[in-house]
This record gives sequence, C-alpha cells and structure tokens, in this order.
Amino acid sequence: MGNPTDIYAQHGVDNITRKPDGEFIGNCPWCRARKDSKKHGANTFFIRADGEVWDCKTCGKSGNVNKFLSETFAANMNRASLGDLKELSASRGGLQVRTLKAWGVGFNGKQFTYPSWLMQQSGTFSPSDIRLFRLGKKPVSSAGGHAGLIMPVSSVTKLPAIKGSKTIWVCEGEWDGMAWYEALRSVGIEDDVVAVPGAGTFPGKCIPMFQGKDVVTLYDNDTPGQAGQKRTWQKLTGVVGSLRRIRWENGLPDGYDIRDLYLEHKADGASMVRVVNGFLTSEPYADHVDSSAGGTVSGGIASAPDPALDNIDPDGRWVNPDEVLASYKKWLKLDQPEMLDVVFGSVFANRMDVDPLWLFFVGPPGCGKSELLMSLSSAPMVHCSTGITNHTLISGMNFGKQDPSLLPKLIGRTWIVKDFTTVLSLNQLARDEIFSVLRDAYDGRVEKPYGNMVVRRYEGRFGIVAGVTNKIDSATAGNAVLGERFIRWRSRHKGKVLVSKDVIMQALDNLSEESQMRNELKDIARKVLNRPIERKHYPNIPKWFKERVVELAQWVAVMRGVIEREKFTGSTGVISAKPQPEIATRLAKQFCTLALGIGVYRGLKELDEYTYKIIAQVGCDTCPDRSEEVIRSLYILGGRASTKIIADDTRFPYDTVRWVLQDMDLLGIVKREKGSEGSYVLHKPVHAVLKRMKIYEEDHAWRWSGLKA
Ligand SMILES: [Zn+2]
Repeated sequence: MGNPTDIYAQHGVDNITRKPDGEFIGNCPWCRARKDSKKHGANTFFIRADGEVWDCKTCGKSGNVNKFLSETFAANMNRASLGDLKELSASRGGLQVRTLKAWGVGFNGKQFTYPSWLMQQSGTFSPSDIRLFRLGKKPVSSAGGHAGLIMPVSSVTKLPAIKGSKTIWVCEGEWDGMAWYEALRSVGIEDDVVAVPGAGTFPGKCIPMFQGKDVVTLYDNDTPGQAGQKRTWQKLTGVVGSLRRIRWENGLPDGYDIRDLYLEHKADGASMVRVVNGFLTSEPYADHVDSSAGGTVSGGIASAPDPALDNIDPDGRWVNPDEVLASYKKWLKLDQPEMLDVVFGSVFANRMDVDPLWLFFVGPPGCGKSELLMSLSSAPMVHCSTGITNHTLISGMNFGKQDPSLLPKLIGRTWIVKDFTTVLSLNQLARDEIFSVLRDAYDGRVEKPYGNMVVRRYEGRFGIVAGVTNKIDSATAGNAVLGERFIRWRSRHKGKVLVSKDVIMQALDNLSEESQMRNELKDIARKVLNRPIERKHYPNIPKWFKERVVELAQWVAVMRGVIEREKFTGSTGVISAKPQPEIATRLAKQFCTLALGIGVYRGLKELDEYTYKIIAQVGCDTCPDRSEEVIRSLYILGGRASTKIIADDTRFPYDTVRWVLQDMDLLGIVKREKGSEGSYVLHKPVHAVLKRMKIYEEDHAWRWSGLKA
C-alpha cells in the first residue's frame, strides 16, 4: 500500500504537505490550471488524513476518491487539444480522434488518460481507475485504482455512454475496444462495446450489465487471451441471453488481435466486420465439462419466465396499426402491409393460452423481412437469434453447473430467428437433429441424453417466427416432416416473388441512417408488444370465420398430401383426396390462433374479413408451393386449362406442371379431360370449396381486369 495521497499527487495535486493535525494540504489542480491567476488554488486543496475525502476552498469542489477521479478525467478530456489527440491517433495506427474522444481519452499536460468503470449496487457506474500513459507506452493504473471495464463515455454527463443494445461486444484491452467500436460505427452498427483491461481481468461487479444480452467476446489469438475468454464465458454463462466468441483462423500469428485486424484492413470497418463475423462461433468449450458435478446432471424443468422479468408494462396500451404501419413505411418499402399483422399477430398469438404457433416468414433476401424481424429484438417476451446451430439449441456441455443450452431460455417466449435458411444448408444429420428437437419442443417436452452422463430435460412451450428464403420449399418438398409444425407466410411483389427496384432503392436510401432506422423500428415494435393481454381481450370468432377456416385447413391438408413424383413408381395404388384429419385439426387450430393474435394486434372485438384474407393467404402459402401455384393458376383460368397454358402462366417447366397435375389427378383434386392432350379441369367439389373459401378471389379479379384492359 502506498501513501493515501499518492493518487492525488499522480493527478496534479502538487506541493502536498502534512499539517500537524494529520490532514494534508496542496494546490488544487483545476484552480491552478486557470489562466487568470497563478496563485489560484495554491494551498487550498485539503485531503483528509485517510485520503478518502477532499475539499478545495477556492473552487468549492469536494468529494470522495471516486469524485476526484471523475473530476480529473473530465478535466483531462476538456484539456486535450486536437493536436494532442492527433499525435496519439498517429501512434495508434490511425484510430480516429473522435473514437479517442468517445472513449474519454484526455491529456493532463504530461500524460494521456482514460477512465475505467465499475458498476455500483445501485446499478450506476463510478470510475474505478484512471489509466495513464505516454505516447507509445503501455497504460498504467492510478495508485489504488481498481480494474474496471473501459467503455465509451458521454461528453456531456461524463458517464459511460451505454446504449443498452441487445448485443454487447467484449474486447481485450482498450485499443482493441476502440478499434472495434470504430469499425462497427463505420457501418452503422450502434452495439455497445466494452473492453477488459487485461485478458485475465473481468470485473465481476459489472456482470449485471450483461444480463439477458447477446454477448460476443473478441479476445486475442494467444494462450492468455483464449484462457481469459474461457473464464469470461464461465462468469457470464447463465446470466446472458447468448454467448459467441471469436475463434481465430488457423495460421494467424500468435497474439493476433482486433488491432492487428484494424491495421491490416487499413481501418476499413466493413471488411473488419465481415472477417470477424466469419470467425464467430457459439460453440461451447469442448474441454470445459465440470467433472465435480459427477454423474447425471439434469437440464431441469424450466418454467415460463416471469413476465415481470420481461418488463411488460402493466399499463401498456394498444397501438393503432395505422401508426405502426406509418412508422415502418418511413424506412421499409412494405408492399404488403399485412406483413406487420402476420409478425405482430404471431407474437401476440404466442402469448395467449393456446398451442404454440410456429411460422416461417418466407421471402427473398432484401425483401425487408430481416429488418422487420430484428426490430422485435428489444421487445418483451421475445428472444431474437440471427441463426441456429444444433449445438446452441441443446448443449450437453456443462459450464460449472450452468446449462448453456438456448432452449430453456426460449420457454414461454417467442423465438425470432432472422435467418433459418442456414439450417437448410447443414448436412442432413445435423438438420434432422434440429428438426427432431423442434418437433419434441412443439409438443412441450424434450429429453436428450449425452455421452458424458448428462441428460437434458425441458418442459414448456415457445413460439417461433423464422425468416427463411424460398429454399425452404425445395428442402421440404420431399420431406413433409421437416416443416410440418410450421405454417407459412410468403412475401409477394405483385404476383412474382422478386426483389423490386423500389425495395433496393429504399435500402440504399437507408444506408446512411441505418442505426437511426433500427432504433426507431425497435422503439415502435417494443411499444406495440409492451402491453398485457388477457383472455377477455381475445376477439370473438364468428361462425362464418370458423367454417371457412375449417375448409381451409382441410384443403391445405389435402395439398400437403400431394405425393412427390420421385416416390411415384407407376403403381396405381388407390390414393384419395381425403384430408388427413390429424393434420387438418392442427392446421385449423393454428390458423385460428394466428387470427386471434392478429385480432389482438388490430384491437378487434370480432374477427373480420380482412383478418380472414390474411389467414387464407397463410393457408395457400402453407401448401407445397408448386402444387399450390398450379391449382391457383387453374382456378384463375376458369377451372379448365391445358398443361401448356398452366406452364406458361406459372412459368414452371412443362414437365413439372405435367407431373404435378398427374399427382393431383390421382388425389382427386383435378380430372384429366377425356380425349384431350393434357387438358385438366378442377373437380367440381374442389372448385366449390375454393370459391367458398375466397382464397383466390382477389387474384381472380386482378387478372381478369388485366385481361380485359
Ligand atoms: Zn479548486
């Protein structure tokens, strides 16, 4: 232990002498810096004998050690000239001056300084240390300083400028932190970035700020860095929403870090972000099984999260869908405003006391689905992921006694997956494993034994809304089991699924203001979902609605039964168009659940025609896409057409259409006209059902008006 006055002497209180009563007296560093008088503050700065409290009789400032640190780094921030910071920038590979300023870097006339922080029990931050360094030298701590997190600092309040983003990046060391912060900001990502002062130092006091966050650790490519990263994971497991870490590519030099990346990529943020994203993994540490647990460790039975934890505002109010639409339209080209009804309706549906609702949100890249889905990331009762791997969903690894699996964190919530397409490109084994876990999860119970005597067991349900491209169609075409728990909604741009020029133009317009867009969309999504819903608020389902939904469900069940050509080997076994009752029942429930959710979103007392139209579209989109398009085309063409005309209309290859029609002939949906070369008619009862359900009426009207014109 040093002298109680060391920290004061280090930060500009000079000429300190001890008075007979034990107190210390010296020159005030801030008064002295004033230009009007050199005498200012001389011998007016009093320090108590234990060094804990100080008081300047000239400027009137006083406080404890923390306050002294605050005043000191704030004064240093103000004192650093542009020239000082430019000099530092040059010695640090060109880190921008504004980055240095954002992280609270200052200059005291001799040395550069920046603060580090610890969280207090009240949840606020206090400076725990001021680190000092000369150009090109390593920073050192102040006497008696405590290791805290290094973070951006508000130039106004001189407190940490933490935005509360869902994702927090943890870097090793201040320079990596600043370089990464600069890279993210340069591409419009406003995520919080913090730095630990050293690989082995993670301040436990700051753990609460990571609660529920998606934390990404970017430690150096060396033994201390990787060991530190692992320890940080241990500390954060069970607290955070998810963990990812950097796994540097083989062949990179020992000690390679974010700052090296910054230098190598000449501060090009976009390419840094691309490289780092490629190195990220959520895989737990393989060798990190806790042997002390010994024997069976159960995943336990996770219960629904306490709504209070998810901060639903008990006084939250209904938000008018027109207002919501206007907010989204400001940023996104929403050709189909019902996208909002489907997404918010699904989330509300999953908060109701009914079976879970799982929905694929199908659309091409760039159609706006990702922005829409990710806008829900700060809404209550929602868990957002960018993708899925089979290791994250359930993990057999033990972190201490914590379960790193994602699944228990989803229970009682709606899981928003930005891009489910990644699952489809996994090898078949991995993909089947994910779907098998999901199928059990849908039914409310998952149990999975692991080789290391670990058994994970979960009970409870959750909803899913997952973005996916139309790759899902070919992936599920021959394997109904894969997607059968999901209903679908498909984005359409005037008949054809294409990214229109407007959409691309809008995306370009938004580029420069991306972070503002994200924040605004997050705000509105949170506002929409931040209200309690009770059974008495569920809309009424009128009889006509139920009748049409039952027929719709039966229709979709028939269409899902359309056999795949490859399995059809010429045998003329009896196949009938009877709907599979089990599937039809489940579909009918799912459609009604979504309708109720949409009703809650729209504030309806009773479900209406508009809601039915959305449900009818979901029904059509849930059918296998090729069969559905062929039937749609046949219906719109008046219920009778040749294979060639349907092929022209749908733009499917002639042979594809021929096979689909032959299959549907066997199922009794269509009938081949006698004596014609491949002309088909819709079976009368099918035609009648389609008409009654009104699923193609709008396309019908639109096409016919087009033909007349
Ligand atoms: Zn003073």
